[in-house]
Amino acid sequence: MKSRRRPYSEQRPQDLGGGVWSVPVPIPGNPLGYTLVYALESPKGPVLVDAGWNHPDAWEALSGGLAALGLDVSTVRGVVVTHFHPDHAGLAGRVKERSGAWIAMHENDAALVRLMHEYPPDEHESFQSDMLRRAGADPREVRQAVSRPTPPALPDRELRDGDLVDLPGRKLRAVHTPGHTPGHICLHLEDADRLFTGDHVLPDITPHVGIYPYDRDDVDPLGDFLDSLARVGELGPLDALPAHEWIFPDVAARAAEIRHHHEEKLERLRALLAQRPEPQTIWEVAAMMTWNRPWDDLSPMLRGMAAGEAAAHLRALEARGEVRRVPGVDPVRFQALDS
Ligand SMILES: [Zn+2]
Repeated sequence: MKSRRRPYSEQRPQDLGGGVWSVPVPIPGNPLGYTLVYALESPKGPVLVDAGWNHPDAWEALSGGLAALGLDVSTVRGVVVTHFHPDHAGLAGRVKERSGAWIAMHENDAALVRLMHEYPPDEHESFQSDMLRRAGADPREVRQAVSRPTPPALPDRELRDGDLVDLPGRKLRAVHTPGHTPGHICLHLEDADRLFTGDHVLPDITPHVGIYPYDRDDVDPLGDFLDSLARVGELGPLDALPAHEWIFPDVAARAAEIRHHHEEKLERLRALLAQRPEPQTIWEVAAMMTWNRPWDDLSPMLRGMAAGEAAAHLRALEARGEVRRVPGVDPVRFQALDS
């Protein structure tokens, strides 16, 4: 299928009307191209939804894009980030340095950011290689474990579901939509029937939903993600302002489509497992699932993400009682249960 995605070079800052602007901010070296940062007008200075990747080109694009719209980055009142990933929260610290803005995010992602700041860097490698080994990864991939990412700035304010963001004169409410991250939020501009969807609902692609470490059995991110899609669907046919790709109407219709996509994927995986009498490792399961490229062509990093996604699907099936985890084996293995 031909991608409808347009390159960053074709993106421009835009006045979307109703006191809302969008600024495309490049993600250097990433096929996703750019993050759409939104600015919301307030009498006490604009509030940003997300900030973009921490890179000099991205900073130029953000501050220059705001200036082109008549906004000065030094007057930004606050940055509310939809989730802690670097293409969203990366530049929040730099905006804060320039303007004194507060940074807000959901308390679950705030806890992860704190953990990233506190985690000893020299333990990162052994954490990663242990996780890969327990998932049944090829020993060569275990050796290629990726380096530790730079954590984003710590937030000044923590949000919970239903909280209003400090945006004087308007109603911008946090809607907790866990799945892509445990603390992902969408932001509902209630006085304008608009929903800032972050990465939760995108018009053409679906966000990565994985489990880390892969063998955790105390969380169910894909189950959470499907519930979060249902939740957003209940808000009605709002206009969606996503963090990537493009703005689109009727978030409820797209949320239903993405749920359907994952339900089909879960059913295909259940059927695949039912055909294998022997219990499978997470790595074996990832290799038999369908990705946008053949498994052998995926880089170690993409395989790691595919394994995370496979683990999330296995865990969701396990939570539904459709597969079981074989007790006491290392690497961990899964098996279909008779339905
Ligand atoms: Zn993103």
